[in-house]
Amino acid sequence: MDTKQHFSLWYVVGAMLIMLAVQSFLGDPGVKELAYSDFQALLQSGKIREVTIADDRLSGTAGTGGNSTTDSRPASAATPGDYQFVVGRVPDANLVAELQAAKVKFGGRIENRLFWTVFSWIAPAAIFFMIWGLVMRRAGGSPMGSMMDVGKSKAKVYVQKNLPVTFADVEGIDEAKDELIEVVDFLKTPERYRRLGGKIPKGVLIVGAPGTGKTLLAKAVAGEARVPFLSLSGSEFVEMFVGVGAARVRDLFQQAEKLAPCIIFIDELDALGKARGASSLGGNEEREQTLNQLLVQMDGFDTQSGIIIMAATNRPEILDPALLRPGRFDRHVAIDRPDIRGREKILQLHARQLKLSPDVKLSQVAAKTAGCVGADLANIANEAALHAARHDKMAVEMSDFDEAIDRVVAGLEKKSRVMNQQDKETVAYHEAGHALVAESRPSADKVSKISIIPRGIGALGFTQQLPTEDRYLLKYGELLDRLDVLMGGRVAEQLVYGEVSTGAQNDLQRATDIARHMVSQYGMSSLLGPVCFHDADAAFLPVSPDATRGEYSERTAQAIDEEVRNLLGEAEQRVRATLTDRRVQLDALARELLEHETVERSALLILLNQPTAPVLQVVS
Ligand code: ADP
Ligand code: ZN
Repeated sequence: MDTKQHFSLWYVVGAMLIMLAVQSFLGDPGVKELAYSDFQALLQSGKIREVTIADDRLSGTAGTGGNSTTDSRPASAATPGDYQFVVGRVPDANLVAELQAAKVKFGGRIENRLFWTVFSWIAPAAIFFMIWGLVMRRAGGSPMGSMMDVGKSKAKVYVQKNLPVTFADVEGIDEAKDELIEVVDFLKTPERYRRLGGKIPKGVLIVGAPGTGKTLLAKAVAGEARVPFLSLSGSEFVEMFVGVGAARVRDLFQQAEKLAPCIIFIDELDALGKARGASSLGGNEEREQTLNQLLVQMDGFDTQSGIIIMAATNRPEILDPALLRPGRFDRHVAIDRPDIRGREKILQLHARQLKLSPDVKLSQVAAKTAGCVGADLANIANEAALHAARHDKMAVEMSDFDEAIDRVVAGLEKKSRVMNQQDKETVAYHEAGHALVAESRPSADKVSKISIIPRGIGALGFTQQLPTEDRYLLKYGELLDRLDVLMGGRVAEQLVYGEVSTGAQNDLQRATDIARHMVSQYGMSSLLGPVCFHDADAAFLPVSPDATRGEYSERTAQAIDEEVRNLLGEAEQRVRATLTDRRVQLDALARELLEHETVERSALLILLNQPTAPVLQVVS
């Protein structure tokens, strides 16, 4: 049934009950209300048969016939004409004497008072719970949730069966999808895995910026596998009293066991799984208890049981390391912001229900929305439709999309989540510089992917290098090559724009680190000789300006600084030579990046093999 209907029906029933109650309390038609003087008159004339004295009233039975002493019947015997009465009580010291004189049976009332006392406690509480219940329902709380079972997680765990979401509803994040296909497979045919004794994942952590589709992806896994989806947000675990979160975790797993095979999805895992003792604020106890309970439960169940726990976070770095250990959330799926092709696909998906005018080119919309995530794109499609509707259009036109982009992207730019064109170009040259240098140094790791889509916090683009083999030892020349790759971005910016941007800061820091280690710890400087100066590890100790710096003299310190500067300066010169040589390729790669935002290795190789190549199409 529709919740809204449900709500109003409930309301009507409640109102009727209240009216009934009020009526029965106030307006019983059989009881006659008398004035005190009338009561006294009746008493004098012997018509009162029975009186109950309460604090504020007298009630009892009165008869129509006389009640004289000559009457043979006892005073309290009922006759057909008797009626009930009630009188407001007036201070009357003679009342008892008068009653005795009239031989009326009378008494006080105790149980009534007790009733009122209890009632006065219960009624406000009942009203409070009623209002609370209504508010919860209105706020879209779980329709099956009851307000009484606070400690049970039923009120907050949303169990969804037969989710209509499938992988077809998730676009632009194909790599993440591929990684989860195995999980779907396991949930569908657990027997196969059981028989083979294969290792089944227990916990899958989905990492990605807000709105990239983490929840959607988890739901799609449940939808594809046709298993129930139990979801709960990490923050919901911890908002209550100490101990409640832990009880919820237990309850959650109990429910899951009943529903298995199923998926448990914990959104905002970081809210609950922050490293223990990391926060300086008080009130961690509840969170830690809850986290411990989660760890216990995760260890306690068997992977064969068919429960898979998925969790989402956009801040994996603050998670308690215990959560990431083998047997817990040991499988990690990263979702990047979608690139231009991904964005087009997501837009197509969300524009499916819209009536588009033929002038709408979703590829153009995708091109204008670099940095946007799936949720932003869904928002843009929706805004465009609203805009068209406001202007009474027959179909959604490109101008509506432009309007929507302006609105959504401007908001995002303010939050510095989306780059403007000029910044994008700078980042493109920067990353192209890294990549070209990496490809022209024999010992450097090969570039697997270049992107100008922000990834994580702080980085505006990235060049991903995959080591061809595991390395335990690095030779002098290899370290120099690393320096070169790190300098590549900065030098490319210098070559093209004549100046560097702040984006290169992290590179410089890492390069300086390497150079300093080479000089002061690996003994790789001919000037200083094969000596190890333990400086780097002591760097965090408070050093007063005039204290001697560790185990070497001020002069040595200067020499180290000098050598570091030389190493970096030389690297810069080498890189400048390389990039000047390959300027055409640098331009081409930057252009390619601007157009496609990500360039895979295959496309990079094609581009590098054609030194004069202008614009190329990406094949992959
Ligand atoms: P997250 O959990 O990462 O914050 P959600 O999964 O809640 O993001 O995404 C919010 C909405 O944005 C989804 O319901 C969907 O409409 C849209 N969306 C996000 N990512 C995608 C995607 N990759 N493909 C299609 N729609 C998406
Ligand atoms: Zn860089």
